[in-house]
Amino acid sequence: MSSILIKNIGTLVTGKLEDPLRKADSIYIEDGLVRAIGIGLKHRADQTIDANGITAIPGLIDSHSHPSIGEYTPAQNSLSWITNYMHGGVTALISAGELHLPGLPLPPDARTALSVAIVTKRCYDNLRPSGVKVHAGTLLLVPGLTEKDFDEIQALGIKLVKFIFYDYSLLPNGEAERYVKWARSRGIKVKIHSGGVSRSGVSQVAGFDIVHKIQPDIIGHITGGPIPMAEEDMIRIARESECFMEICTSGNYRLALVLARYVKANNLHHRVLIGTDTPGGTGVVPRGILREIAFISSVGEIEPEKSICMATGNVGRAHGLNIGILEEGRPADLVLLHKITGSVAKNALESFAKGDLPGISTVIIDGEVRVAGRSQQTPPPERVASQSCC
Ligand SMILES: [Zn+2]
Repeated sequence: MSSILIKNIGTLVTGKLEDPLRKADSIYIEDGLVRAIGIGLKHRADQTIDANGITAIPGLIDSHSHPSIGEYTPAQNSLSWITNYMHGGVTALISAGELHLPGLPLPPDARTALSVAIVTKRCYDNLRPSGVKVHAGTLLLVPGLTEKDFDEIQALGIKLVKFIFYDYSLLPNGEAERYVKWARSRGIKVKIHSGGVSRSGVSQVAGFDIVHKIQPDIIGHITGGPIPMAEEDMIRIARESECFMEICTSGNYRLALVLARYVKANNLHHRVLIGTDTPGGTGVVPRGILREIAFISSVGEIEPEKSICMATGNVGRAHGLNIGILEEGRPADLVLLHKITGSVAKNALESFAKGDLPGISTVIIDGEVRVAGRSQQTPPPERVASQSCC
């Protein structure tokens, strides 16, 4: 495989909250992995990218997306959305369930839910649109699943199950609790659809009480997707649990701001994940993650390098995936970006802090350049990275 040396990086964001900024101006990539990060690296490489002083961040991970079939999104009858998201800096998608499959009976019965998870997992393992890592096959938890079913999804490498259609009046029978135990013992994370009813019309409402009973790992769109739980419930979850909490583009801005302020005041940045909860009724939003980082950084007044961690390293950690962090030995998934001409910001981080969208110049996934020069979805950055071959 090939090697790349990126030099003249202005600012390097790691995606790691403990240490979000690293003093370095070069990254050496070989065989799809970051091999070295440092100052003035001189490795010989097949390809050299001069970042021209712009910012490098880890590839963005959408913590809450809804893939269905390849790049087709039935919810909006549109094509190529994954490639468009990639041009918005997204290098990985976490599926919150493939529930938009045309004609899928909702809620599905156990056999159907399991079959959908298996089929979508196998399809996306075999197809990575524009190189984007689609973590699909998220099992929708419905009554009647067996421990053998959990063995089967574990063997396939499925890492996530989700409560959304489960009838919570059945909780006293202990089945949901067993699901959580079966998932945890197999290294599978549990997510819950929280808040009000979603587009399907048949998702179950969940606030603090249901979350408290189920004890999931991740609260899906705690600030709404689209309808959030009551504000008091959200704050109780932030205060009384250790769950990861998603803020999604599809949600309620007022509650997103309330949560951002609470997180900042109580130093809970490590528990926040950014997702879009798209495609769906909210639409296809290729710049959704960038806009959410800008919202949390500007209106929420959280340092942009920390907001970026919420859409990178935090998401990888929450889902047990080795992605979202720019460091030696990790997959070379990264984005080079800068301020857009006319923005009052000086660089990408300041763009986020001022609420402006930055422009993307380069996207690299597993050491392969997927966007060069400029993105087709953001306005062009004022300065772009340039490539040369040796
Ligand atoms: Zn969703």
